[in-house]
Amino acid sequence: MQKELDTYKMRGLRSRLVVLLRNKGIHDERVLQAIGRVPRHLFLDKAFWEWAYKDQAFPIAADQTISQPFTVAFQSQLLQLAHSDNILEIGTGSGYQASILSLICKRVYSIERHEILFKISSERLFSMGFRNVRCYHGDGYAGLPGRAPFDKILVTCGAPDIPEDLLSQLAEGGKMVVPVGDGDRQRMLRITKQGDRYIKEDFGPCAFVPFLEGMSNQRVQGDQKSRVSL
Ligand code: SAH
Repeated sequence: MQKELDTYKMRGLRSRLVVLLRNKGIHDERVLQAIGRVPRHLFLDKAFWEWAYKDQAFPIAADQTISQPFTVAFQSQLLQLAHSDNILEIGTGSGYQASILSLICKRVYSIERHEILFKISSERLFSMGFRNVRCYHGDGYAGLPGRAPFDKILVTCGAPDIPEDLLSQLAEGGKMVVPVGDGDRQRMLRITKQGDRYIKEDFGPCAFVPFLEGMSNQRVQGDQKSRVSL
C-alpha cells in the first residue's frame, strides 16, 4: 500500500469513521477492521480527499459513484463473510468495496460493465497490493459461470428483479445480497440458498445506481475521474 499517501491525518479521520459506523449499528468486527485499514481516499479523485472519511457517496468516472461507507459496511455485514469465502461482486466501480472484501475473504471476483472503471480499478487494486482480487470487464447479469459456485454474491447496483443467473451461481448455503426494485423503491434483500429453496429476507429501503444490462465500452472524455458534479 502507498504508505506515504496514507498520512497520520487520514488514519485519524478513518478511525473516527469506524466509530461512526459502529454507532450506526455495524457490529461485524472483521468489517470494521477492514474499513479501518483501507485508505478510502486513494479510491477517489484528489479533489475529494479531505471528505473521503465522511459517510458519503462520491462521484467516480463514467457517471458512477463510490458507495457510502455505511452501505459498504452494511452489505458486507449482511453477507456474514468468512475467511474461506469465494465471493463475486457485481459493480467494481472504484474498487473500494472489493478491497474491503479482499481483506476478509479468500478470493474476490469483481465484474464492471464500464471499461474505464475496470481499467482504473483493477490497476489500482493491484498497485495497492490486493492480490486476491480478480477484476473482469463484463456484464454482471451473466455472472462468472466458469468460477461458480460462489459462497457469497454481492450486487452493488440496483436490480429491477432478483437476477436469476446469479442465483444459480450460489453454492449450497451461499448468500446473495442485492438491492432490488425500481428507482426510489429499492429494498436490500438477502437470499440464502438452501437445497432447492431460496430464503429471502428484506433489510429495508436503499438507493443504488442501476444494474444495467450489457457492457459499456464508452470512453470518457477529458478528465476521467472528476467529470461528475456533486
Ligand atoms: N462497488 C463500487 C460501487 C459501485 S456503483 C465501489 O465500491 O466503488 C455500481 C457499479 O455497478 C457501477 O460502477 C456500474 O457501472 C456497475 N454496473 C451496473 N450495471 C452493471 C452490470 N450489468 N455489470 C457490471 N457492472 C455493472
